[in-house]
Amino acid sequence: MKILVINAGSSSLKYQLIDMTNESVMAKGLCERIGIDGHLKHTPVVGGKPVFDEDINLPTHAEAIAAVIDKLTSAEYGVVASMSEINAVGHRVVHGGESFASSVLINTEVMAAIEDCVPFAPLHNPANITGINACIEVMGKDVPQVAVFDTAFHQTMPAKAFTYAIPYEYYETDKIRRYGFHGTSHRYVSTRAAEMLGKPIEELKMISCHMGNGSSICAIDGGKSVDTSMGFTPLVGLPMGTRCGQMDMGAVQFIMNKYNLSIDEMLNILNKKSGVLGVSGVSSDFRDLDNASEDGNERAGLALDIFNYWVAKTVGGYAAAMNGVDAIIFTAGIGENSASTRADIAAYFTYLGTELDAEANKKRGSDNVISTADSKVKMLVIPTNEELVIARDTLEIISK
Ligand code: ADP
Repeated sequence: MKILVINAGSSSLKYQLIDMTNESVMAKGLCERIGIDGHLKHTPVVGGKPVFDEDINLPTHAEAIAAVIDKLTSAEYGVVASMSEINAVGHRVVHGGESFASSVLINTEVMAAIEDCVPFAPLHNPANITGINACIEVMGKDVPQVAVFDTAFHQTMPAKAFTYAIPYEYYETDKIRRYGFHGTSHRYVSTRAAEMLGKPIEELKMISCHMGNGSSICAIDGGKSVDTSMGFTPLVGLPMGTRCGQMDMGAVQFIMNKYNLSIDEMLNILNKKSGVLGVSGVSSDFRDLDNASEDGNERAGLALDIFNYWVAKTVGGYAAAMNGVDAIIFTAGIGENSASTRADIAAYFTYLGTELDAEANKKRGSDNVISTADSKVKMLVIPTNEELVIARDTLEIISK
């Protein structure tokens, strides 16, 4: 069984072809600048074929999918003999609103519901819809297409966690509430953590810290998301690379009035010029901030301190919300790679009975327990794998 995983953006399209007999990646790649000019990087993982990395004309997503299928099946770069070997396609879809608490087989009704969620994710959902339509156009209606939503995992949050304290009719009429994102990642790492700890997930209270360009934290009780730091949009919660995180609306109004900014201009600042970039004035990339801070740049140091502090107090809040925690998980670009950030954050948790294993914390690139054997609360590093979750869900749904 071979499953193509698609993550379509407005001008890009990432893919992986996964062989589900052993869950191995056969090929992966990225189409960029779709609708502008076009570039495809295709990397065969099996079969010893060369990498294709060239500018090619990609006027639409359908042409991009056609180019991907062409490379996957070509004599020179291919990993399968023909398109008929691809059994199904799994699509990442950012927003499923309240309609989807799990992954689904795509049909016209599902497409309409994804369309209904466009106002909630105006940049992402239209691109995801375009990607699905492009696959149907190129591969035909007989190849099953499955949608896997970033928001679905958080649909188990109780009303006390997802309801904003604003007039209730905004929820009733317009579904304004906290949705949360990175659900596929939080689900993957928490499932994997339970396996690594050798305990049924139903018996574990876990807090997963997804720390990348975008960052969110999730409280997972018995395998279910009970709270998460992102909200109606991915702007809030922790300060991130360029996003502000939690912010006082009154301060936003003050800035807009004083500098005569429109709401779009203000949101652009809060989304793209804030976070650790905004505070440091150096970079949104934590490697640059580490270097600048070591060179004595105080604002870079402050930006890192703010980030770590917010992770620590959010984790503390979730430990309180669940009345305990058994394991804390680090994942995504920063969580997987930055031993110093993990150590700085873990230093806040000792009141919980955590003990960091400094040697284990230095290891990279694999699943690791980074707390000592005596640590009351376990700490783990688990590289996230959203593509694998999408492929697994797709396989499960088409096998039914
Ligand atoms: P995205 O949210 O775009 O998927 P990633 O999860 O790939 O992002 O995370 C990207 C971020 O990870 C980079 O911006 C960088 O800050 C951080 N990062 C990657 N490697 C390291 C490292 N060795 N040390 C510190 N930060 C790192």
